[in-house]
Amino acid sequence: MSVKVAVVTGSNKGIGLAIVRALCKKFKGDVYLMSRDVGRGEEAVKSLSSEGLNPKFHQLDINDVNSIIAAAAFFKEKYGGVDVLVNNAGIKMADTTPFATQAEVTLKTNFFGTRDMLTHFLPLIKAGGRVVNVSSFVGSRTLNNCSPDLQQRFRSEDITEDELAGLMQRFVDTAQKGKHKDDGWPETAYGVSKTGLTTLSMIRARRLSKERPNDGILLNACCPGWVRTDMAGDKAPKSPDEGAVTPVYLALLSAGATEPHGKFVSDKQVQPW
Ligand code: NDP
Repeated sequence: MSVKVAVVTGSNKGIGLAIVRALCKKFKGDVYLMSRDVGRGEEAVKSLSSEGLNPKFHQLDINDVNSIIAAAAFFKEKYGGVDVLVNNAGIKMADTTPFATQAEVTLKTNFFGTRDMLTHFLPLIKAGGRVVNVSSFVGSRTLNNCSPDLQQRFRSEDITEDELAGLMQRFVDTAQKGKHKDDGWPETAYGVSKTGLTTLSMIRARRLSKERPNDGILLNACCPGWVRTDMAGDKAPKSPDEGAVTPVYLALLSAGATEPHGKFVSDKQVQPW
């Protein structure tokens, strides 16, 4: 039987690193720590090696589609596909950054970069595979603060990926003009990016069910909780290892499981959307 493989984006530090640590202990196969910066990635691999763990490394910048394509080609060639994909890479800019910049840069990584990952990696996911998108409870709160029209679209079952991408771009464009509030958006670029990512997860899960009904792939979005990392600071209650619990639970849903799928999950529980 071929060797199974799990890959985790943005895993040179924080929650991603803790997800790799847990997968190294629990996943029966190769685990790839991925980082946009080779030096930071190799340092992280070394730190896990010193704990007696043995992750492998591949470079990946989700903002660089050539990097995504090269990584996808590598996994196709070496493993014939991917068994577990955790889209963890994400950014949150300082509140002092001009809002127009926050909107453009945050959406570029958290929404459009992750979308590019799904575009190039979902065709590689093997039957029985698991896909986890690390979103945030902030995305749910932000959904509730959008205009009723926007909320209706994000919650609808017939929203397409193109429509969603159009809405995310509309947020960026109106933010450039300082008009996003008039257009129904709340004042949080990070929140909107995660509302988009959770909605995208639901859209992609519906598509998988339709296009590959017999493959038993489960795709979910989740919140790791509020976790002590460079992004969230040192006042957060959870350690990175605790933050990894729900993403790892979704990554390792047992063979033959049929749910959750297309859900937003926090503390291992499906949350309302
Ligand atoms: P960190 O800032 O500690 O880590 C983020 C990771 O993502 C880093 O490895 C970073 O790499 C990487 N990354 C950023 N941009 C890219 C890119 N373009 N390509 C590849 N990798 C990239 O954050 P956390 O560990 O806290 O966050 C991990 C995920 O969890 C994020 O999606 C975040 O939104 C989410 N989350 C976090 C919460 C928290 O309380 N911490 C709460 C809810 C959600 P580099 O080192 O090169 O910058």
